[in-house]
Amino acid sequence: MKKLAAAIAALMILLFAIPLLLVKDKTEEQREDLKQYNDIPIDVYMCDMDRVVTMDLEDYILGVVAGEMPASFHPEALKAQALAARTYTMLRMRLFGGRGCSKHQGAEICTDSTHCQAYRNPVTVKKDLDKLKEAVYGTAGEVIIYDNKLIDAVFHSTSGGKTENSEDIWSNRVPYLRSVVSQYEEHSPKYVARQEVSIDSFIDCMKKLDSGVVINKKNIKNEIEILERSEGGRITRIKVGNKVFKGMDVRNVLGLNSSNFNFDIGSSTIRFTVVGNGHGIGMSQYGADGMAKNGASYKDIVTHYYQGVDIVDINSLMK
Ligand SMILES: [Zn+2]
Repeated sequence: MKKLAAAIAALMILLFAIPLLLVKDKTEEQREDLKQYNDIPIDVYMCDMDRVVTMDLEDYILGVVAGEMPASFHPEALKAQALAARTYTMLRMRLFGGRGCSKHQGAEICTDSTHCQAYRNPVTVKKDLDKLKEAVYGTAGEVIIYDNKLIDAVFHSTSGGKTENSEDIWSNRVPYLRSVVSQYEEHSPKYVARQEVSIDSFIDCMKKLDSGVVINKKNIKNEIEILERSEGGRITRIKVGNKVFKGMDVRNVLGLNSSNFNFDIGSSTIRFTVVGNGHGIGMSQYGADGMAKNGASYKDIVTHYYQGVDIVDINSLMK
């Protein structure tokens, strides 16, 4: 009987061990499969469904490009966006040494555009879906590196004529996120925009930033002073009343398109003239579209907006 019990126990151990062995094999297999990009699975937290969905990396990238850039843009601009989205995604994936999405446990990335990246179900694109597929599947596996590492491929809508040095807007200096001229953006609807804020709500917003701010409403014309601008033109420091704020904080609290603005104070409102849309760091999407329409390839676009980078096949990073 003891022998039988031992045999059963051994069998049970084996039965438990087999799946474990298979899991190990699966990981090995997965790494092998990196040679066939379409087989990289990614766990995406879908905000609208409130659950994690596993999909093919390239299918996910298709949805990101659909969500982040108008599909009507030039094919080369869409390809540049695909590379930026793929690189941004892989940098966050655990398989490539990333940490996954910090907000949604078990997910590599989420579809909340304010947290990770926007995502749109590609089938809803309809008209330009083939163009989108060509941009993504046609560049499958291509990523952007600097110093042999995946870059943080940040992008924005419209720089306003010149992109920003990373340290002028955020705190850290990133060697490939340099201020570069961004021509051909004039077709952006937010290249230059007017935005109006009432003086009362302006004061409320400043108090949200710092409750200790003292502003003389009657003399408000003398209460706002731009102290410093970045190389790209965005305001880095602005004095309001007795306080000095970061231009980016003022932009965010007022809901302005960018922190590159001028203002004109009326009797009850402040009229802002805002140049560009977004933080201005990395690739300008309208700039990418403009460059493409003027004959640039996606490689020209990527190496322009991310200085000193190389475009490589993801396999070269795995070796
Ligand atoms: Zn996230």
